Amino acid sequence: MKTRKTTAWSPEKSVELYGFGRWGGGHFSVDAKGFVQVHPAADGRAIRIADVVAEAKGKGLNAPFTIRFQDLLHKRVQRLNEVFAKAIADEGYQGGYRGVFPIKVNQLREVVEEILDAGKPFDYGLEAGSKPELMIGLALHDDNARLIVCNGYKDDDYIRMALLGRRLGKKVIVVVEQFAELDTILRISEEMKVEPMIGLRAKLNARGEGKWAMSTGDNAKFGLTTAEILAVCRKLESAGLAHCLNLLHFHIGSQVPNIITIKNAVIEAARYYAQLVKLGFPMGYLDVGGGLGIDYDGSRTNFESSMNYSMDEYARDVVFNVKDVCQSMGVPVPDIVSESGRAVTAPHSVLVVEVFERISKAETQLVDIPAKPSHKVVEDMRALLEAKGNYGRLERFHDAIQRKEEASTLFNLGFLDLQGRAQAESLFWQICRDIDAAAPTQGYQPEELLDLKKLLADQYVCNFSVFQSLLDHWALKQLFPVAPIHRLHEKPSVNATLVDITCDSDGKINQFIDLQDVRDYLPLHPLDGKPYYLGVFLVGAYQDIMGDLHNLFGRVNEVHVFLDDDEDDGFYIEDTINGSRISEVLAGVQYDAEDLCRRVKRQMDAAIRKDLVKPREGIRLLELYESIVQDRTYLRVRYEDKKSRAAPAARKTKRRGKS
Ligand SMILES: *Cc1c(COP(=O)(O)O)cnc(C)c1O
Repeated sequence: MKTRKTTAWSPEKSVELYGFGRWGGGHFSVDAKGFVQVHPAADGRAIRIADVVAEAKGKGLNAPFTIRFQDLLHKRVQRLNEVFAKAIADEGYQGGYRGVFPIKVNQLREVVEEILDAGKPFDYGLEAGSKPELMIGLALHDDNARLIVCNGYKDDDYIRMALLGRRLGKKVIVVVEQFAELDTILRISEEMKVEPMIGLRAKLNARGEGKWAMSTGDNAKFGLTTAEILAVCRKLESAGLAHCLNLLHFHIGSQVPNIITIKNAVIEAARYYAQLVKLGFPMGYLDVGGGLGIDYDGSRTNFESSMNYSMDEYARDVVFNVKDVCQSMGVPVPDIVSESGRAVTAPHSVLVVEVFERISKAETQLVDIPAKPSHKVVEDMRALLEAKGNYGRLERFHDAIQRKEEASTLFNLGFLDLQGRAQAESLFWQICRDIDAAAPTQGYQPEELLDLKKLLADQYVCNFSVFQSLLDHWALKQLFPVAPIHRLHEKPSVNATLVDITCDSDGKINQFIDLQDVRDYLPLHPLDGKPYYLGVFLVGAYQDIMGDLHNLFGRVNEVHVFLDDDEDDGFYIEDTINGSRISEVLAGVQYDAEDLCRRVKRQMDAAIRKDLVKPREGIRLLELYESIVQDRTYLRVRYEDKKSRAAPAARKTKRRGKS
């Protein structure tokens, strides 16, 4: 039985099930031994994620990890610039493409440096949304052909920093997002005797859709209305700085799922642009903001975790519509700027988490049921279990639910003891599994019976924090592809949802990508007493940098991987960043580790004096406290202890396979 099952499954089936080919953009595959491979440069060279995990372990780093595939990041920057270059060539467009990377999407130095390196041949620049980001931009930016675009709320010092950049000969463009900012810009540039380069952010009428669609329209937080744009123009003219107006900007929100939205926004913005040129301003740049999506579920639809267009189509539509509008109005076309962050960084990083426990409703709750149970409700439940073929599945399900309620009521009233209730519930779960196992493989099924699978799904406890590493899944229900990184030649026989190790019931993943809709559980492999790793993919934008400190878990370990043809496994780890130590996260909330140690020592001394603890043991316990406070925040999973617990679970799964 077992061998037949194993051979009936294949790595190809896993590719289909988890969707690697659909969302992976050619960067992810599964090899014949069932390991996930990453193709950072999409050129056939491959790195097994499991090999990276093994090597990192050798360096003393344990899961959870963020693994950054630096070559993949490099490739994405190239891709973006190349698709724009191609669209420009195909359309015979007279302007250029001058993209900027929005630093907020991933501020990590290694990420920004890799992007600048990859973007060098394309004069690819940076976008800043705050003072700290601008400080990064000014320092790392090394080539005055690249732009620095300054967005976000600005105070005097923000503008001083932008003008410092102008002094260094950099093309730093300050985008006026609020009408009042213009006065500040004029005042500070007068004070510093530096001419600014100025952009305007338009509050477009074209509306975004999707989860981040609040960035346009009348209630948008940023941007100028038409009347404000005209007022800015008049002010600039009277200050004698009309020649400083260089750019029109808009941003309709991130992850725009529908290309129609983008077309409409580009057309509207191009009209604004052309009108400003007609009014006599030099302009030169049209900045179409962010919004270029990632197809997280691989469905190529306008569903919020997907997108119904490709990067090539995006570039063509932007270039074509700008050209079309400018031509019709008889103005020269601008250089096109985009601020694509998500599309550039999301694919390069993978979160690897370790599953260390299985919580099973159906299987851990089995109790022995004596041949003659005493209570009638248990008898009724058993009759229902044995009455397999006598009624329809739905009717049997309803009867079982009724009996379970009955058992609960009887228990509350004192007519059923703990034993009896456990027997009734155990039988209930057996009936549910029975009903589920008899489900037809195709055709219509009533919703209640479809939900049964969700009810029966196990929980896999994973060593990570959703709040640290997948904030948008928690906050916005954004979906990410999740899949095991090994064992993909084995059939995944357990339906499971994932829970994290925070003490928060929201700390879980129970919605997964699906081609049609959203899946409530993920088929996974039974735990076998050895480490079982899952990858959460496409987390390089916002997630791996934005985490909060819920439960003080803090940053996860990080490894930076480069392709290397001289190595047997095709890669080397260039850099590692250790995850947070307990003392570090404590310092972030104002606890000094030494002070905590002193306080525990005082209590230990008192306990020793009272003879509650022997002096030698007291010292040992203190040393334990002191060493753990310097240790990592996440759990250390031990496998020696677990063999005895994992084995029965594996046996049960086989038994289930037969029923
Ligand atoms: C966040 C942001 C971006 C990045 O958007 P993506 O959708 O990630 O490309 C670009 N521009 C501005 C002004 C932003 O606020």
